[in-house]
Amino acid sequence: MTLDGTNTWLLRAPGAAETVVIDPGPRHAGHLSAIAEHAPVTAILVTHGHQDHVEGVAELSDRLGGVPVLAAAPEHARHAEPLTAGVLRLGGFEIEVLPTPGHTADSVCFVTAGAVFTGDTVLGRGTTVVAWPDGDLADYLDSLAKLTAYPRMLLPGHGPALADCAAAARAYLAHRQERLEQVRAAVAAGADTPEAVVDRVYPDIDPGVRFAAEWSARAQLAYLRRESQPGPEQLDRL
Ligand SMILES: [Zn+2]
Repeated sequence: MTLDGTNTWLLRAPGAAETVVIDPGPRHAGHLSAIAEHAPVTAILVTHGHQDHVEGVAELSDRLGGVPVLAAAPEHARHAEPLTAGVLRLGGFEIEVLPTPGHTADSVCFVTAGAVFTGDTVLGRGTTVVAWPDGDLADYLDSLAKLTAYPRMLLPGHGPALADCAAAARAYLAHRQERLEQVRAAVAAGADTPEAVVDRVYPDIDPGVRFAAEWSARAQLAYLRRESQPGPEQLDRL
């Protein structure tokens, strides 16, 4: 599920003495040493709490003398308060913290003047998983809609950089709507479990990735159930 590995991004402004690290990634000694070579580090930023993004955080922070770790989930923040929406001024950069729940509840994107660091909210290739129930498809669609406002470079948690975050987010939205239509049709035809939805929507699925498709189907069914119920959708989230 880590695709071709996790991207760690190192930011240093022209003329600045300090580096900002985004997503240290796995606890891999060689990788953490390569990051540490770019010390001094002013802060370590975390896009979300999945292991392949945060496993090396504590060790890197300690190795760098207790560098603050800025993360939305309190269990991953260190020497700092949990991240909330707003603007950080770090290492000569203004970095907007944009909450983008959906892939996970704690997902955020980091926006600079030139780029959006999207973590797993939008990937450099393929699509991402809404890790229901921590992730939520309605939240995810809202987050993708937010990202359509940023026509600038996209630097993802996995895969290559993309030229235009806004275009990538629009393509993801279209793909999700298309999939939802297929799931609506499957439900209308009698599929009422994630397994049955996967059988109908992906009849030839590779058994090795079937669990990921069922995971997505759970998120889609939860979304459609909520959509079909009257009253404020937030009631479901309490
Ligand atoms: Zn993730």
